Amino acid sequence: MNRRGEFRVTVTKDYLVFASAHFITFAGHRCEGLHGHNYRARVTIEGALNEESWFVFDFVELKRIMKRLCDEIDHLVLLPTKSDRVGVKDEGDSVTVSVDGKPRYVFRRKDCALLPIPNTTVEMLAQLLTERLHAELEKQGARGLTAIEMEVEENFGQSAVYGVALP
Ligand SMILES: [Zn+2]
Repeated sequence: MNRRGEFRVTVTKDYLVFASAHFITFAGHRCEGLHGHNYRARVTIEGALNEESWFVFDFVELKRIMKRLCDEIDHLVLLPTKSDRVGVKDEGDSVTVSVDGKPRYVFRRKDCALLPIPNTTVEMLAQLLTERLHAELEKQGARGLTAIEMEVEENFGQSAVYGVALP
């Protein structure tokens, strides 16, 4: 059998969504107000065929992992912890958020997802979900995977794709 080709499997499901609040900062001093999106994720993984199972990776397992990653940030306020401009102070029961040094919001801690990214753009969310998925796939001993591509859509026709080749 010809083994030169590579296979890709894609998962996109109505339940791979997260309805979350966020705001992003722009270059200069511009900063959005708090608002929400019904985000949707789509993932493609590429790799060699597992010749015992004849698949690249088990769809059921991939969907389960992606569902969990989406659920982790669903119905929460997404806050960047690596921003130069947005200060996010975890105070136990609450989170105090400032922008450019000025107090902006106080949220209940359990309403927030503190994310290790510099801005909550779809680009950064796609990269973060890719890293989390990759870590999960490694933990499950997935072998022969060569690439992951993650798309995060925040509105119809408005999305970002992050792709990474795996070592
Ligand atoms: Zn937005």
